[in-house]
Amino acid sequence: MKIAIVKEQAAGERRVAGTPETVKKFIALGAQVAVEAGAGVAASIGDDAYAAAGAQVADRAAVVSGADIVLGVQAPAADTLAGAKPGALVAASFNPFGERARVDGYAAAGLEALAMEFMPRITRAQSMDILSSQSNLSGYKAVLDAAAEYDRAFPMMMTAAGTVSAARVFVMGVGVAGLQAIATARRLGAQVSATDVRSATKEQIESLGAKAIFVENVKGIEGEGSGGYATEMSDEYKAAQAELVSAHIAKQDIVITTALIPGRPAPRLISDAQIASMKPGSVIVDLAVEAGGNVEGAVAGEVVEKHGVKIVGHRNVPSRVAADTSALFSRNLYNFLSAFWDKEKNAPILDEEIGIAIRLTQGGKVVNERLLG
Ligand code: NAD
Repeated sequence: MKIAIVKEQAAGERRVAGTPETVKKFIALGAQVAVEAGAGVAASIGDDAYAAAGAQVADRAAVVSGADIVLGVQAPAADTLAGAKPGALVAASFNPFGERARVDGYAAAGLEALAMEFMPRITRAQSMDILSSQSNLSGYKAVLDAAAEYDRAFPMMMTAAGTVSAARVFVMGVGVAGLQAIATARRLGAQVSATDVRSATKEQIESLGAKAIFVENVKGIEGEGSGGYATEMSDEYKAAQAELVSAHIAKQDIVITTALIPGRPAPRLISDAQIASMKPGSVIVDLAVEAGGNVEGAVAGEVVEKHGVKIVGHRNVPSRVAADTSALFSRNLYNFLSAFWDKEKNAPILDEEIGIAIRLTQGGKVVNERLLG
């Protein structure tokens, strides 16, 4: 059983899908591990550390040659995996809706694509969930990115020269990233408020010491919502939310938006007129910018200024904390494969709920029902 960990090819991708820790664990399971030279450099892991963990370090062709399993952060193009065993498993994030041609390429190449972002939201799969592990650090980094663009301090400071007041931070969308953004902004000493459409988040916001700002007159999503996910809201809700946000946002210094709806463009939460109502020098970080953006005028990959307000739209925020996100991503992959490892066959057997949910291609065909529907 040979596991190949390949170097990421996408521009700006600093993460890696395996660490010396997971290499050792895979070897302990009975696998042989090969790592592409330079794969971990951008995440502060040198080739020597992989070699010391027991991996063979070599060029792409040698690493992929004869591999039964290939691990990536962003799925490599199928034609770069020629030489892997027929039917080899490739576990990575695939962006299956956005990059369908890549999925079809895997089917044509006879590879078995496993989309880690399709991991079901069940308790048993929590330790395998890349969306949670990566969002957590994105929420943290979003606050630091805001602080870096902000020309004032976050905490209240009483100095001999007078008092500096605490920054007001508003978090919109309180999933995994939003909760970590609240916690991080609180740690920095900000006064934090937050909103979501799911009623279950109210208690979570308050338990972190932040103020919950909720639409009261129109029903949101009761409890957690299906699978923890939000859906598109009614026009009535959107109008009530816009009014609530307008009143609140003008008093904020920092806004972090994280709202996503699976399979749909991100909801628009902040209009240009609302940005214009904010104080000059305020900062908005749009973590949903690559999914269409929560903020009018946000540009993916740029920091733009509108009405004196900076709108931060960094792409691939998890890659901005590459050492830690790589460690967590790699553990997600290990937790997943090891949970299904059959000792006698020395291979994972993926024939139940989780395997079915994340398998995109098999036997030369696209097989995932979310892509066939
Ligand atoms: P997400 O990334 O899909 O969305 C981010 C947040 O935006 C969500 O809280 C969503 O409700 C909110 N949102 C959507 N539309 C909005 C709007 N119009 N206005 C304001 N907010 C809006 O969410 P997520 O981070 O993946 O987490 C969602 C939930 O799923 C959380 O409760 C999380 O704990 C749960 N979860 C469970 C598991 C598991 O059990 N394995 C794994 C991951 C997440």
